[in-house]
Amino acid sequence: MDFKDNIIKAGEIARKAREEGIKVAKEGVKYIEVAEAVENKIIELGAKPAFPCGVSVNNIAAHDTPVYNDERILKKGDLLKIDLGAHVDGYVADTAKTVEITTNKNQKLIDASENALKAAVKLAKDGTEIWQIGQVIHEEITKLGFSPIRNLSGHGTGQYLVHTPPTIPNYNNQNKTQLKKDQIIAIEPFATPGEGLVIEGKGSTIYAIINVKNTRNFEARKLIKFINENYKTLPFAERWIIKEFGLKARILLKILENENIVKQYGILPEKSKALAVQTEHTILIEHGVVT
Ligand code: MN
Ligand code: MN
Repeated sequence: MDFKDNIIKAGEIARKAREEGIKVAKEGVKYIEVAEAVENKIIELGAKPAFPCGVSVNNIAAHDTPVYNDERILKKGDLLKIDLGAHVDGYVADTAKTVEITTNKNQKLIDASENALKAAVKLAKDGTEIWQIGQVIHEEITKLGFSPIRNLSGHGTGQYLVHTPPTIPNYNNQNKTQLKKDQIIAIEPFATPGEGLVIEGKGSTIYAIINVKNTRNFEARKLIKFINENYKTLPFAERWIIKEFGLKARILLKILENENIVKQYGILPEKSKALAVQTEHTILIEHGVVT
């Protein structure tokens, strides 16, 4: 299959999984039920999760995912960002949506990020310069009285890679590089009434391999093999590893982290503790939105 067939299939599956996650996400439901509904849907439809489903609430902009036996429950008024990826033969489609649980107090904030994405998608064609995408995102978000989060951005995706160049900014970064036909990019405007920056918070329990090397510990070597076979260079969740290795997975991951073989991502709260919303699509340039 051509890479385009793979990314289009991954995109369709990611869209359906996103819709499933939104259907499941109601007041009183556990975060882990949302994440597992999304991840199971991706597998059921014939793709694989490209990274652990993000379940980031209120002032957490991104990179939160349930831990093993996570007890957290969605509450009335929560602003929930579901961010997920599906891959087919490594080709990654990345998509996200924000919903408010039960109430509807922050629709304007959600609209700001959705309007920005819509305008950016319309512009994303062969020959468009990257700064133009950032500028239109910035314009749409500030028009409604909010700020884009400037240190989060869209990106390219590649085979077994969630993030590749170019950076697709949420403001005009002056980059005059042109988008090209058949390029895959993810566009993800984040909007906030706050300062418009995220900081790195506590560990998310999302990991990825950063150095391909071995370790002396026999069990840890088995874990490296498992990661290479199942995720390659894609991010994975501690809870996925616990399913295979039991609770000793935590110790093994710590060994690999200390030896600089894997890294753990931090959750990303908004710096001024303000609400954050995100909308994301993956686009195949001159084909359109795939998610
Ligand atoms: Mn995403
Ligand atoms: Mn992304």
